[in-house]
Amino acid sequence: ESCGAACNEPDDDISKRLMSSMNTANIRHYLSVLTENPHLAGTSADKYTAEYIQSTWLEQGFDSADIHSYDVLLSYPDEDNPNLVQILNDDDTVNYTCSDMEESLRPEDEHPEMVKQFNAYSAAKMAKGDLVYVNYARVSDFDTLESVAPHVNLTGKILIARYGRLFRGNKVLNAQNRGAIGMILYSDPADYGSNDDNAKEYPDDWWLPGTGAQRGNLHVSDYKGDVLTPGYPANSYMVRIDEEDSPLPDIPVQPIGYDDALIFLRELGGDIAPESWQGGLNISYRIGPGFTNPNRSVQMDIHTSRERRLTYNTIGFIRGQVEPDRYVIVGNHHDAWIYGSVDPSSGTASMLEISNAFGLLLKDGWRPRRSIIFCSWGAEEYGLIGSTEWVEEFVKNLGARSIAYLNVDQSVNGDWYMRAKASPLLFQAIFSAAKKVDDPSDPSKSVYDVWLERNPDFLNPVPYVSNLGSGSDFAPFMYRIGVPGADIRYTYSRSLGISSYPAYHSAYETLYLMETYIDPGFKYHLAVSRVWAELTRDIAEAIIIPFNCNDYTSRLVESIDKLKKDYETDMAQHGITFSDIDSAMINFTNAARDLHVRIDGMIKNDAMAIRAVNDQLMNVERAFIDPLGLPDRKFLRHIVFAPSSTNSYSSATFPGIVDAMFKIDEDSDQDGRWKVVEEQMSVAAFTIQSASTTMADYQ
Ligand code: GLU
Ligand code: CA
Ligand code: ZN
Ligand code: ZN
Repeated sequence: ESCGAACNEPDDDISKRLMSSMNTANIRHYLSVLTENPHLAGTSADKYTAEYIQSTWLEQGFDSADIHSYDVLLSYPDEDNPNLVQILNDDDTVNYTCSDMEESLRPEDEHPEMVKQFNAYSAAKMAKGDLVYVNYARVSDFDTLESVAPHVNLTGKILIARYGRLFRGNKVLNAQNRGAIGMILYSDPADYGSNDDNAKEYPDDWWLPGTGAQRGNLHVSDYKGDVLTPGYPANSYMVRIDEEDSPLPDIPVQPIGYDDALIFLRELGGDIAPESWQGGLNISYRIGPGFTNPNRSVQMDIHTSRERRLTYNTIGFIRGQVEPDRYVIVGNHHDAWIYGSVDPSSGTASMLEISNAFGLLLKDGWRPRRSIIFCSWGAEEYGLIGSTEWVEEFVKNLGARSIAYLNVDQSVNGDWYMRAKASPLLFQAIFSAAKKVDDPSDPSKSVYDVWLERNPDFLNPVPYVSNLGSGSDFAPFMYRIGVPGADIRYTYSRSLGISSYPAYHSAYETLYLMETYIDPGFKYHLAVSRVWAELTRDIAEAIIIPFNCNDYTSRLVESIDKLKKDYETDMAQHGITFSDIDSAMINFTNAARDLHVRIDGMIKNDAMAIRAVNDQLMNVERAFIDPLGLPDRKFLRHIVFAPSSTNSYSSATFPGIVDAMFKIDEDSDQDGRWKVVEEQMSVAAFTIQSASTTMADYQ
């Protein structure tokens, strides 16, 4: 007996047609259009890009494609007053001035609209003082500094830190919290160059030249998005908070290249920096404070603006046939610091090719079971603005109807393996899509095989999928409204020891870089596009949403084991045990297992029964959302996963507990802090228990 379309298994052939209709020539074409001009958020080129994507989707056959604009706080260098980072003589005359733009190394790369080097939302201020080198400016680096050079007082100093290892905004926050009055960020050759002395720089290879600097925003907060409208969409009538009440930095910050950093670092006095602080420049790195020549000091004169402008999202819709009110959301941002051939336009080119593939199927009369929403975000580079504002505007519908959010920011930044970050619910769906796609390095292997070989999960016989962390547009979906997210890309080998691909956020991120060094032939783009398309198709088409709750069990167990390893002894001394969490975990484990047994045994001929288990699956991630949010981070509401408080790129598991335990010994209010730990342990136990009831049979 059958109940018609609502119970039809998806057609296998659709997957093959979807994959075979995509090709490398189209992807190259899209990338060449997208990288023709700089397309910085808030500029006319940003709007033009949003419109190009809109018209492309309409031509490809989408049911609709609309532009949603938001009036948000952005930030730019002042055209008339250059940002100055200088060495001064004792009579305040200028001894040296840093460059604020990459040297032009290929005439074809030049364009009048390339934005100068700056850090978005830096304070527009002047600072003058002695310089201190603080390695990556991690909390651990400041701890090291305190132990190896306790005499160095950071109050009133300008700090110089190398880029890498953590979100740049956290570096600045660390500096500001320690009394620094300014911060210089630079890309060290150890983190953005090759170990090989004969290695060549762009345009002769992909390594970063000495005048390359990483642009990037400094917004650190629990809400991200537009800094003036926490929690609400930045529409025309929404009241803005005062800029002074916002979490933006109070100190001037500016990025420089390593040619200029060398001038500063080689003159630094003070103690030799620890071995692990030595970078790739041919000097011995010292800590400071100040230069060996005591008559010289550093001055920063920064004019970076903060101003309201419009940014644009393009939202394309493919209406589902059976469950139009269930959304599978695909997203990538379109704004770039300059050409953005890797970040984000490689992802945009992939997205336009998968939208084309879906469009071809639509033209043949196919329709997915569920709706697919394609999102091209504006102003991601300024702090996930387009995605966050859209989630804030449509929070009710998205919260009630979204199945998953599938992000690709950079599609390809290397050719070693496909790396994935995701909610545990999506691990199996990603694996199964990756198994269906040939790997470009060896046609006898799948993307999955190569991934398993080069990035295995050491605890399980599968490829490694990391927790999401933050740093791209999946964050508002996952942490605000509990929509399971994923982010995939093809990337370089970790053995290169670099902090990102070398040209990241610089003027050297050109089409030439991509097609000469990173992905000549665009085969890796095609592979990522196919995995992304197949994953989307599967989640939009499968009768039963292809989520695996048992993988959530395993990831929870791993995370709890880690908590125990780090804190169990300490907690026991304060009478706090894991027994409630352990017993909630038994219930969760059983409920997850039973749900899948029940699904496997279902005779799928009852549309209501199908919809009912699908709603249970959809609500598993939601069940980890605490409406009150994390302590002091109310907009981050997921109890299991959050961006780490010390590095928003990386993930913290059970962030409420981890933050309560962070440096607990140093807190003057011991009783108060342990009370918070106790509360957070019980919130975790309750939330796991509550999630297990979501999966339980409701008879
Ligand atoms: N992806 C951007 C960056 O890494 C923005 C990340 C964020 O603001 O969280 O600079
Ligand atoms: Ca907002
Ligand atoms: Zn990006
Ligand atoms: Zn970026």
